[in-house]
Amino acid sequence: MEIETKPLCCHLCLLSPSVSTSASCLPFSLHSIGSSTLKQEIDLGLKPSYLSPTQLYELIDSCINILTGRFTYEIAPVFVLMEQLTLKKMREIIGWPSGEGDGIFSPGGAISNMYSVMIARYKYFPEVKTKGMSAAPRLVLFTSEHSHYSIKKAGAALGFGSENVVLLSTDERGRVIPADLEAKILDVKQKGYHPLFVNATAGSTVYGAFDPINEIADICEKYNMWLHVDGAWGGGLLMSRKHRHKFSGVERANSVTWNPHKMMGVPLQCSAILVREKGILAGCNSMCAGYLFQPDKQYDVSYDTGDKAIQCGRHVDIFKFWLMWKAKGTVGFEQHIDKCLDLSQYLYDKIRNREGYEMVFEGVMFYSPPILQVAPNIKAMMMESGTTMVGYQPQGQKVNFFRMVISNPAALQSDIDFLIDEIERLGRDL
Ligand SMILES: *Cc1c(COP(=O)(O)O)cnc(C)c1O
Repeated sequence: MEIETKPLCCHLCLLSPSVSTSASCLPFSLHSIGSSTLKQEIDLGLKPSYLSPTQLYELIDSCINILTGRFTYEIAPVFVLMEQLTLKKMREIIGWPSGEGDGIFSPGGAISNMYSVMIARYKYFPEVKTKGMSAAPRLVLFTSEHSHYSIKKAGAALGFGSENVVLLSTDERGRVIPADLEAKILDVKQKGYHPLFVNATAGSTVYGAFDPINEIADICEKYNMWLHVDGAWGGGLLMSRKHRHKFSGVERANSVTWNPHKMMGVPLQCSAILVREKGILAGCNSMCAGYLFQPDKQYDVSYDTGDKAIQCGRHVDIFKFWLMWKAKGTVGFEQHIDKCLDLSQYLYDKIRNREGYEMVFEGVMFYSPPILQVAPNIKAMMMESGTTMVGYQPQGQKVNFFRMVISNPAALQSDIDFLIDEIERLGRDL
């Protein structure tokens, strides 16, 4: 383990004055955390190599969260600054001028998506914050039939009603059909309801599909609606010069969900909601609790970012991501993403003309042996023999198919070869 051996307390003192008292210094070093956990893992019978760098980050991260939560600048100044800096960098990568805008780290993509719906409602109907939903007409949200269920859940939880979340039809590759969006907006207007929000998914959970953001943005502009891009899963592709074209038009979005804890391999949890308009997040959520957010503090209280959140105390999600970014660099993340997509391509090339397989579509991530119970049976055998594991599911008219997701940059072509050999070995006994 190539981690330096200074005592942990010194690092933390540098990072956050809130833990700088000697009493809060931990009596061991990063090195000793690593090795004692290593020993534990060996005692548990695990191979030492299983202590990956990300697990080590998670360990450090847990230690930090014991020491400090994050509500205000005075409680966790360095984490607040790290968060600001990282969000700005992410907004720059999205393509918003000078990385201006707003955002916050949330407990996951589902919550980030929920934030987007809340902010959209606040943008167009700010009085809902004080007067409730009766201050607005009947509001309607639009999202792909293949989108993540959290959009519908947000509709239900925030009082829109799941019936006011309209599902959009998709083409053969699982992408929203823009003409269907426009037709459904017109239909809703005809009924006297208010079309508020469109979610475009960039990397859908099952098909890995990218909705056509530019065409959807044109429609949102025409009808004065909020455009959210759910890049929870696909967001990492923004780091790749080779693949970011799939996000073409993302800079036109009003908000973007991006989960570093998915394809980029940051340990759970690490998700950001990024917003183009500055200040709107605080406008939407702040309650100005007098015991935390006093306006007459001696420092610039715009650093008290905690009141933008729907939570009070928050987990420090930023540190591990910041560390990883420092360690790998943007280029490192790019290589990670490119490698995962290269492996998907490798898998696709290997099986597209192979006997016994049928592609669900001409994509790179998914394939299926075409008989109803084949995938579940093979998966059950995989688990019993303990060799490998891969998810499956049915979709629409399609019977159960394997849904292969590659997000581990340590995976090799030989792992893909093994997977296919294993499917065929186990499938022989069916
Ligand atoms: C995983 C996923 C989510 C939910 O993210 P969590 O962090 O698990 O809450 C939302 N949208 C898409 C497209 C996803 O793939």
